[in-house]
Amino acid sequence: MSTMHLNLSNDRELEREPVIAENGNRVIRNTPLPPLDFDVGDGPENTNLVPATTLGRDLTAALQRAGVAGEETALLVLRINDYRKLTETLGESFGIELVQHVEARLRDRLRIYDVAERVSDDEFAIVLGRLDKLDDVTSVASRLIESCSGGYDLGELKTRIKTAVGIALYPPDGEEPDELLRYARVALQGADEGDRSGCHIFSRELLERQQRRVWMEAELERALLEDRFTLHYQPQYDADSRKIVGMEALVRLRSETGELIPPDDFIPIAENNGFIVTLGQWVIREACRQLALWREAGCGPLRMAVNVSPLQLVHEDLVHVITEAIEASGLVYSDLELEITEQQMLEHSTVVEKVLGELHGRGVRIAIDDFGTGYSSFVYLSRLPLNLIKMDRSFIANITTDPRAVQVATAMIVMARELGFEIILEGVETAEQQQFLKTSGCDFGQGFGLARPQAPDAIEKLLLEPQYLKIAG
Ligand code: C2E
Ligand code: MG
Ligand code: MG
Repeated sequence: MSTMHLNLSNDRELEREPVIAENGNRVIRNTPLPPLDFDVGDGPENTNLVPATTLGRDLTAALQRAGVAGEETALLVLRINDYRKLTETLGESFGIELVQHVEARLRDRLRIYDVAERVSDDEFAIVLGRLDKLDDVTSVASRLIESCSGGYDLGELKTRIKTAVGIALYPPDGEEPDELLRYARVALQGADEGDRSGCHIFSRELLERQQRRVWMEAELERALLEDRFTLHYQPQYDADSRKIVGMEALVRLRSETGELIPPDDFIPIAENNGFIVTLGQWVIREACRQLALWREAGCGPLRMAVNVSPLQLVHEDLVHVITEAIEASGLVYSDLELEITEQQMLEHSTVVEKVLGELHGRGVRIAIDDFGTGYSSFVYLSRLPLNLIKMDRSFIANITTDPRAVQVATAMIVMARELGFEIILEGVETAEQQQFLKTSGCDFGQGFGLARPQAPDAIEKLLLEPQYLKIAG
């Protein structure tokens, strides 16, 4: 790792020439460090004293001095976002120059008591000295972000960058330098997930979430190899004829001990690390295979709805994957319906539009899932090749207690009809909601009150027995 070590100050007079430290890091000292009354080493011979750490000597010393003085402080890690992407596009030497400029802005912002060093290509670690109170740390972090983010003019090349800060508090979060550095980096990941402020304080809860995510990422790979993914199917009913007209395939993960883990616990992780593309292929193949089996068993004409992530549209040849699955199972394109959430459509609109257009052209039906939970933008309603709107269950959640809710749901249905879309009501649970489904002008309904998602054999029984015509009426 190429590290650079700074001791930062506004006081230009104190600046000295960089010196090369024994470990090869560039060191700039603005002020002489106060003497330590104990030895802090960072060489291998000192590993008993200071466990393996990527923090350099001065930061470690700053933390230990705070400890000796009984002061509270914080370790901050400031990261240049998307640094790798920038250097890939603009070159290594651009990256090196950029970091020098960021370093200069950082130096201008920090006070004489603060100590900073570069701990990786795109990260600086900072220990704040003489904090009046720990609460001040987020405002300091915000100021650092504000200073270091923004436009950089490097001669021929100009760029804008964003920076983020992860914070670990000393001593509340930990006392060992390496532990604090790790926690500040965990907090940085929290900054990526969280609000747009770009700064985040470490918490145990965040650490546990990330540990679970790391475990789950490995578990997803294992589960695929060990054939532990399974699909449950939830019937979709025709509102008039009260027949089952389709199924929605909903993926579950069977843990090693046999419980079923719901998709909300792993789909976001799979979307985050790209595994959803592989998993999504499996879901499409398996759902098509199952539909063909039901056809053979005489279960009648049915459509199969499959949830797809936009990553599948962006990162693989979805047309090819679907064509293969359709051909292998002997189905036709119009047997398949793809469900994409409204939020996801918006995020990747151009590619999504193109791929969905091609699939729609071949006969695949396209549905917007959870409609009404995102921005409900009308732009894509007119632009995208849609067949069906799945009205989110929140629309009918309160129809018995809130007359306004009925009006809103009814208006949505009228609008969708006017635009020529079919409508399915999600989350039909109660007798009143079933009644609303019958009278509201919706085409289809789906919900626990009609049928829960179930394993394929239970669904087959439902399909082969006459009581599957189930809507109250
Ligand atoms: P979704 O696509 O909106 O699926 C409907 C979810 O609502 C299902 O949860 C279903 O069990 C639940 N549900 C159905 N009827 C009712 C009802 O009456 N009341 C209530 N409270 N809930 C009802 P599930 O199976 O836990 O799936 C959650 C989400 O996970 C799905 O929401 C979908 O976004 C995602 N998902 C599931 N399978 C896949 C998949 O194969 N690929 C992708 N990309 N996402 C999937
Ligand atoms: Mg769905
Ligand atoms: Mg839904």
